[in-house]
Amino acid sequence: MSNFISQFLPCYTVGPDAYENVPNICRRFGTKAVAVGGHRALAAAKPELEKALAGSDIKIIDYIWYGGEASIENSEMVAGTDSYKEADMIFAVGGGKALDTCKYAAMILSKKPIFTFPTIAATCAPASAEAIMYYPNGVARDTYQCGRPAEHIFINTKIIAEAPDLYLWAGIGDTMAKHFETELAARGKEVTYKQALGVEIGTMCYKPLVKYGAQAIDECKANKAGNDLEQIALTNIITTGTVSALVGVTINSNVAHSLCYGLTVLPQVEKNHLHGEIVSYCTLVLLFADGQDDKVDELFPLYKAIHLPTKLADLEVKTDELGPVIEKALSVDDIKFVPYKVTAKQLMDAIVKLENYNNK
Ligand SMILES: [Zn+2]
Repeated sequence: MSNFISQFLPCYTVGPDAYENVPNICRRFGTKAVAVGGHRALAAAKPELEKALAGSDIKIIDYIWYGGEASIENSEMVAGTDSYKEADMIFAVGGGKALDTCKYAAMILSKKPIFTFPTIAATCAPASAEAIMYYPNGVARDTYQCGRPAEHIFINTKIIAEAPDLYLWAGIGDTMAKHFETELAARGKEVTYKQALGVEIGTMCYKPLVKYGAQAIDECKANKAGNDLEQIALTNIITTGTVSALVGVTINSNVAHSLCYGLTVLPQVEKNHLHGEIVSYCTLVLLFADGQDDKVDELFPLYKAIHLPTKLADLEVKTDELGPVIEKALSVDDIKFVPYKVTAKQLMDAIVKLENYNNK
């Protein structure tokens, strides 16, 4: 057995003209690229990409639809097309599912260099070293390790500003949990160098949200690629991706995500509410359950300003529905990474405390 640790961290270019740096970054990987993504994402990115590549050595030889689901079948379909086989590198364009389909195709199936071009800032998929895959019918399948993130991430804030602000909003909600969950999981533990580094960086998963979150949503609504939106795009994509890569699964998530999985046993929550939206509510429950009342005070104004959920009614949940929710929350693996035993009473008390806090 070899005795070493390698760590690859995300590299990125950000800004309204981020694609102008594509020829400079990508040229050492060849001259022929194939762009793969969703229909809307490709339509948004194509004019910007063509403009940036005009007169350069790099040519996009084809634009391929990823198939609509992050499935291994779609990854095989993409990797099997003639233009994909001919390409020196893959430009993955779009949201999490399109990017994960491309990551699986490029890094696991075909070993081609891949670059990500997120068109929304909802998750860390553009920067993460894993592909979350589903069956063709949309049922979750497994998470596959790609070994490293994409070679480079091109974050075009003009395109992100022009996408629906719902994605940025849900991204803020999911990112909110990252610092509090990693800090909790690492507390009192002997952690490795890279885990310690990840936990420290994790504080940047919530402070910029409090500072820039509300204005970033306003900028996105106005289709404006301003500084606030750029700060949030970087936080949602790069900071979360970097923290996840460094801390690993045992420190990555716990109370907020466990309770989120619990809440999604209720059909109205599963159907009508986004992952990041649910996680943001659960983060407030985590803070009360862990006695961090001052942090609830700090976060609450942002939640109210951008209408993230702060009470059960916001998620269409009634108190008498919580039995199976809490049972499920306490059964998932994530909850075991807390340094103390989380009990049903503790979660229930925190939920009730949060309900009362709303009425203050
Ligand atoms: Zn999440």
